[in-house]
Amino acid sequence: MIEVRDLHRHFGGFHAVDGASLSIDKGTITGLIGPNGAGKSTLFNVIAGVLPPTSGQVLMEGEEITGLKPHELFDRGLLRTFQIAHEFHSMTVRENLMMVPPGQTGETLWNTWFSRKQIAAEEAALRDKADEVLDFLTISHLADERAGNLSGGQKKLLELGRTMMVDARVVFLDEVGAGVNRTLLGTIGDAIVRLNKERGYTFCLIEHDMDFIGRLCDPVIVMAEGHVLAEGSAEEVMANEQVIEAYLGT
Ligand code: ADP
Ligand code: MG
Repeated sequence: MIEVRDLHRHFGGFHAVDGASLSIDKGTITGLIGPNGAGKSTLFNVIAGVLPPTSGQVLMEGEEITGLKPHELFDRGLLRTFQIAHEFHSMTVRENLMMVPPGQTGETLWNTWFSRKQIAAEEAALRDKADEVLDFLTISHLADERAGNLSGGQKKLLELGRTMMVDARVVFLDEVGAGVNRTLLGTIGDAIVRLNKERGYTFCLIEHDMDFIGRLCDPVIVMAEGHVLAEGSAEEVMANEQVIEAYLGT
C-alpha cells in the first residue's frame, strides 16, 4: 500500500528522519513505535504531505506520491488525522463531520445559481452520513454537543470519525490514545479494528501504549534515530535486544 524508500528529513543540521525505509502492507494495522524523538511524527508528516522530504521517496500502490499536497493525498484516500482545530470547537460534533467532504455544492458562488433543492438534498445526505459515522463510533448521543466540550478521548473518536466521511484507504494516526481513559481507548481500538475488517482500511499508528499496540498491530515497526531498527510481531520487537537498548538509552 505504502512504501517509503530511504527517506530523509533534515531540520538544519539535524537529521530527524535519517534514511528510513519501510512498507505498510494493504489490509494491515501496522504499528510504529520508538523512543521520543525517533522521528515518527516527522515521518508521518512527510508521508502525509505536511512536510516535504529532504530526499527519498514515498510510493502508494507503486505510484510515486512524494511531495504531493495533503489535499491531493486526501483525494487518493491517504489521510492523517489532526486535532480538531480551535475554530471548530464552537461547532457541534455533527457539524464537524459534515465539514469534511470537499466539493460540497454549497461551497462555490457558481452553485448559488443551482437549485436550492439540490443543495438541500446534498446536505441531508451529508447529515445522514454523519449520523451513520456517529452510530458506528457509538457516540450518537454527542451529535449536538459542541466539539469544544468533548473529553480528550471523545475528540480522538471525532478525529477518527472525520476519516469515515470520505472513502479513506490508508489512515495515519499519531498517538490517538494519548491521555485517553481505558474505556474510550477500548472504543477507539474497536473502531479501528472494525474499520480495518469491515471497510478495508489500512492503518499505520504511532502509539506508546504497548498493550494497545499488542492488541491491534501486526506488524510493528520500530524507529530509532530517524531510521527503522526492527520489524516483527509486537512480541518479537519487544524481545529484540536492540529495541530494548534504544528505549533504555533515552
Ligand atoms: P517522535 O514523533 O518520534 O517523538 P519527532 O518526529 O516529533 O519524533 O521528532 C524527531 C526529532 O526532530 C526531534 O528531536 C525533534 O525535536 C526534531 N524536530 C521535529 N520537528 C522539528 C522542526 N519543525 N524543527 C526542528 N526540529 C524538529
Ligand atoms: Mg511524535
